[in-house]
Amino acid sequence: MDISKDIIAGPCSVESRDQLLMTADELYSNGIKYFRAGVWKPRTKPGGFEGIGEPALEWLKEVKKTYNMKIAIEVANAEQTKLACENNIDILWIGARTTADPFAVQEIADIISNYKDKDITVLIKNPVCPDLDLWEGAYLRIKNTGVKNIGVIHRGFKVYGESKYRNEPIWRIPLDFKIKYPEVKMYCDPSHISGDKKYIEEISLTAIKTFGFDGLIIESHYNPSQAWTDAKQQIEPEDVATIVEYINKQTEKIDYDTSLLDTYRNKIDYYDTHIIYSLEERLKLSKLIGEYKRNHNMTTYQSQRWQSLLNNLINFGKEHNLDEQYIRDIWEIIHEKSIEVQK
Ligand code: PEP
Ligand code: MN
Repeated sequence: MDISKDIIAGPCSVESRDQLLMTADELYSNGIKYFRAGVWKPRTKPGGFEGIGEPALEWLKEVKKTYNMKIAIEVANAEQTKLACENNIDILWIGARTTADPFAVQEIADIISNYKDKDITVLIKNPVCPDLDLWEGAYLRIKNTGVKNIGVIHRGFKVYGESKYRNEPIWRIPLDFKIKYPEVKMYCDPSHISGDKKYIEEISLTAIKTFGFDGLIIESHYNPSQAWTDAKQQIEPEDVATIVEYINKQTEKIDYDTSLLDTYRNKIDYYDTHIIYSLEERLKLSKLIGEYKRNHNMTTYQSQRWQSLLNNLINFGKEHNLDEQYIRDIWEIIHEKSIEVQK
């Protein structure tokens, strides 16, 4: 297996030394180089398994040494962050519930700033709620520590009521993050978006192929049905490999001659230039019309003229394969600007 994207895989939670080593061994033989596991588990309701805690760090060190994999764990407060850094954990991730809490993120950031010269990576999951500002705020708090490697993880958003996925992807939010911070690596966590193993492949493919994400973090257990947490969404190590291979195939670079694409793009640029020229000339005329209307005490907005102009354009548009809504949307904007200029 070989993919240019980073693939982090491993169990939702550390359950025992055996479970950890068995899962790591299978992932390693399937080519995985980054191993995830939850040491402290943030449970929405009390009474569930809350993680092994500190003793799990020893087993993770064993995995790191045996398989030479980089280790990723979740940290949710200052103490956990300190323990992770002291135990040479390579990647710390901030969970979705924690990202939603600026006090907790700042407390984590304060510890990380003491270890910023160590080779650590911090990944920040989106907050549970669809709030780009909170996600961005957490990113900036971590960035301010001076730590060099920072990435973000898209794990979907909690919405109330029935839905196909455990957490709705609302792709617009990570894409808006990407537009603002193109230098930040963007991972997708298809496991927590899906909540069910059957959607993991489709979500992974959408993230990588459609939206160009940089990597995936997938929950994997040597025996998923027996997992103590998130059993429904964990997959076997060899299934991780199958998904990665499938994505590789779907995104395989095919050598092609770009000259045809360049020709199309040049033509588009030419027409766009002409649209700009036309809009400029149109606005000049709007100004003249505005003056004329003022001099003759006419109202600026002439409903009948606007209705007939729009109808003519819609009909003309139809003759040229442009649908009614498209013409309406464009000319609403053009007309609004024209009224503004005339005033
Ligand atoms: C996890 O990765 O196991 C986890 C708890 O994720 P999230 O913070 O996305 O719910
Ligand atoms: Mn989980």
